[in-house]
Amino acid sequence: MIDLHSHTTASDGTFSPAQLVEEARRVGLRILGITDHDTFSGYDQAVPLARQAGLELVCGIELSTKLHAHSVHLLGYFLNDLDPGLMAFREWIRDLQQSRRERNVRLVARLRELGLDITMEEAEARGGGMTGRPHFARLLVEKGYVSNMQQAFDDFLDESAKGYVTRREPRFAEAAQRIRQAGGIASLAHPIRLREDLAGVLPQLCADGLSAIEVYHSDHSPAQTELYLKLAAQNRLMVTGGSDFHGAAKPEIQLGTGRDNNLHVPEDLVARLCPPNA
Ligand code: AMP
Ligand code: FE
Ligand code: FE
Ligand code: ZN
Repeated sequence: MIDLHSHTTASDGTFSPAQLVEEARRVGLRILGITDHDTFSGYDQAVPLARQAGLELVCGIELSTKLHAHSVHLLGYFLNDLDPGLMAFREWIRDLQQSRRERNVRLVARLRELGLDITMEEAEARGGGMTGRPHFARLLVEKGYVSNMQQAFDDFLDESAKGYVTRREPRFAEAAQRIRQAGGIASLAHPIRLREDLAGVLPQLCADGLSAIEVYHSDHSPAQTELYLKLAAQNRLMVTGGSDFHGAAKPEIQLGTGRDNNLHVPEDLVARLCPPNA
């Protein structure tokens, strides 16, 4: 079994890198991709642990990018972690981390304006170095302002909600190019969440530097998976897949198997990945 999409406490997952490696061993994963939001820190910590556990790790990341005014998640997979371009990429994501911190300052101010008594310290205490909206959502639940995480997003944090503040995000094309220049494979994450017509926009995304599409994901129905496979073939895109495991932050999703065993990532998928020419 393989799983190329997972999160640790370095972003918005609740399993530490060590716990995630242990979970991978427990469920019998052969290959695990760690794709934290905007950081490699969870992957870096997992490397020696995975080696000890005999687990093959894939270095990944999930970037929030801007496409036609909406936020689109883009996965990057770096099969050769000695690629000379990776140093520059690691430098670049520090800017993204900075833009997240700036956004969080404005988000706290906005939520306080709306009458919510929260502080940055409280939010950061729930995020492990990469505080994001899910951590704010957890805080609002804990303080009793909302009854669950989804309500926190619906009422305050979603793009269309009253507490939303924008964040400086790289354009989709820039992020895809940066991934390629670092020897990586840019894969469109959970295409089901795209707010526009996938078939119509894919040629442009390919021209922008997209190399793959996340066909297999816990949020995809069998029919959607079939459709994405077809679109991948039509657009000559590689195929990736994973559960999007977040631990207790998304308790219904299991590592490797998704929601109620709805995820079946083909065993030979990693062998078929091959970095494009930059
Ligand atoms: P951030 O990167 O801090 O802007 O937070 C983005 C994360 O928040 C996404 O990866 C999702 O996990 C979560 N998220 C965003 N919008 C929603 C929503 N409407 N409902 C639930 N979770 C959401
Ligand atoms: Fe997430
Ligand atoms: Fe995502
Ligand atoms: Zn994810």
